[in-house]
Amino acid sequence: MADTTPPLPDFSSGFSIRDLPDGGKVLGRVDQEEVLLVRTGDAVFAVGPHCTHYHGPLVDGLVVGDTIRCPWHHACFSLATGEAVRAPALDPIPCWRVERIGDLAYVRKRTAEAPGPARPSSSSVPTSIVIVGGGAAGLAAADVLRRERYDGPITMLTADDSPPVDRPNLSKDFLAGTAQEDWIPLRSPDFYSERRIELVLNARVTSLDANQESIHLENGQRHSFGALLIATGAEPIHLDIPGATSAQTCYLRTFSDSRAIVAKAISAKSVVVVGASFIGLEVAASLRARGIGIHVVAPESQPLERVMGPEVGEFIRRLHEEHGVVFHLGSTVRRVDGRVVTLTDGTTLDADFLVLGVGVRPAIDLAEQAGLEVDRGIAVNEYLETSASGVYAAGDVARWPDPHTGDRIRVEHWVVAERQGQTAARNMLGYRERFDAVPFFWSQHYDVTINYVGHAEQWDRIEIEGSLDARDCAVTYMRGERKLAAATMSRDLSSLRAEALMEGQINTAGR
Ligand SMILES: Cc1cc2nc3c(=O)[nH]c(=O)nc-3n(C[C@H](O)[C@H](O)[C@H](O)COP(=O)(O)OP(=O)(O)OC[C@H]3O[C@@H](n4cnc5c(N)ncnc54)[C@H](O)[C@@H]3O)c2cc1C
Repeated sequence: MADTTPPLPDFSSGFSIRDLPDGGKVLGRVDQEEVLLVRTGDAVFAVGPHCTHYHGPLVDGLVVGDTIRCPWHHACFSLATGEAVRAPALDPIPCWRVERIGDLAYVRKRTAEAPGPARPSSSSVPTSIVIVGGGAAGLAAADVLRRERYDGPITMLTADDSPPVDRPNLSKDFLAGTAQEDWIPLRSPDFYSERRIELVLNARVTSLDANQESIHLENGQRHSFGALLIATGAEPIHLDIPGATSAQTCYLRTFSDSRAIVAKAISAKSVVVVGASFIGLEVAASLRARGIGIHVVAPESQPLERVMGPEVGEFIRRLHEEHGVVFHLGSTVRRVDGRVVTLTDGTTLDADFLVLGVGVRPAIDLAEQAGLEVDRGIAVNEYLETSASGVYAAGDVARWPDPHTGDRIRVEHWVVAERQGQTAARNMLGYRERFDAVPFFWSQHYDVTINYVGHAEQWDRIEIEGSLDARDCAVTYMRGERKLAAATMSRDLSSLRAEALMEGQINTAGR
């Protein structure tokens, strides 16, 4: 069949900006390259049309001030320089020079990448930086330190046996068999060598002496630091199930964990997932994609109800049931005998193996041992500083004062971890930047993605706009007249707008 898509406008021959409203975007081309033309106020920018995180279409994103935000996972780029100003994107988008003649905007040559900020003055920067943790927060911090032209030594120590990986993918496409192994590392080996980031794998840090500015590793090595970032994340909670062998029970946090489940899944017919958490349910969806029979066992009456409320919980249960998942709610595993899994209600299930997704606990041992202030996580201030001078914490491990809720909160969201890593890194260089990002996470179940902005531990009502069944809705969690959080399906712009609105709430409150 002939392609009936109209050709993209050629921006090199001029585009009438009268056709472009404030905040409007239009996709076109220059030579053979696709270019996005964006208007904000009187200014017109030409940038690359794809997010550098997952290639999301920026034409469907939101323009906020002089930035554009990706509809998929809320990355944010400067329209003027292309810089990725907020994770999850770490790399810039290209920019083109725009010439205005009357009402016409002509897109000219691609501009060189912005040189980045000036190198911080030596009096305000630490002599060396050690990052404990090679996850979302740790990598984003190291990345920003070099982008900010920090010149001193950076050492990243990780207990993992692989370089930083796209952890969210481990329960999604990689586990389902639709993402290749080489997509999973966040950066190539060259990235670390070119940026002089000394990445040490299998390097578990066992003690910290904040006064002596040194840490010790399990293998006896010692490192001193000028500033330290603790980004140790969280660890899966282990369950002691009578009769179950360690070979039968899988947890999912690391690349190795995901590979181990994939290896077992190749010959498996039936798997029991213990816990109806986000990770448990994503594992269920991914293993269903491999044709494996899945039983989910969990004590609650609806999956995800505590975080998302009963309506979304019921929708998620039905969605998984439509894909063949069998739920055993209000129940837990009593014991395992070979392949037979017995539940507390007496039901017996046949299983090749079990995946346990019953939550995580923040990895605070190091902080506790060092006498840092802890409060169900490492307590940090708005600059992500711990109670010890020169020691910062970011990511799943950190509990911070959230200006949006007024509470001290700790979350387990990829984007929050990366953004905290970025803020902590800048603060090590003397920026004194408050961490005030609105929390955001996403979760994927089959072809349904849920985006969630804000933070609602308790609400007094839930408002649903649109239809859960049609998978097209915005679910708002309210306390009084205050919008605490919003979960959306197929409404990416609404999610971006909710985020921008929540950011505005704190700006107008005159922090
Ligand atoms: C399978 C899976 C899927 C997920 N999916 C999503 C999703 O879809 N959306 C979302 O928003 N979030 C998701 N998350 C959550 C997200 O991945 C986390 O919030 C994020 O990884 C937290 O980043 P972090 O840097 O704090 O910790 P991590 O990424 O866990 O990194 C912690 C690092 O610290 C290291 N470490 C720990 N202790 C020590 C020590 N003593 N010495 C040295 N190193 C140490 C670890 O080895 C690791 O390298 C998912 C998580 C998992 C496990």
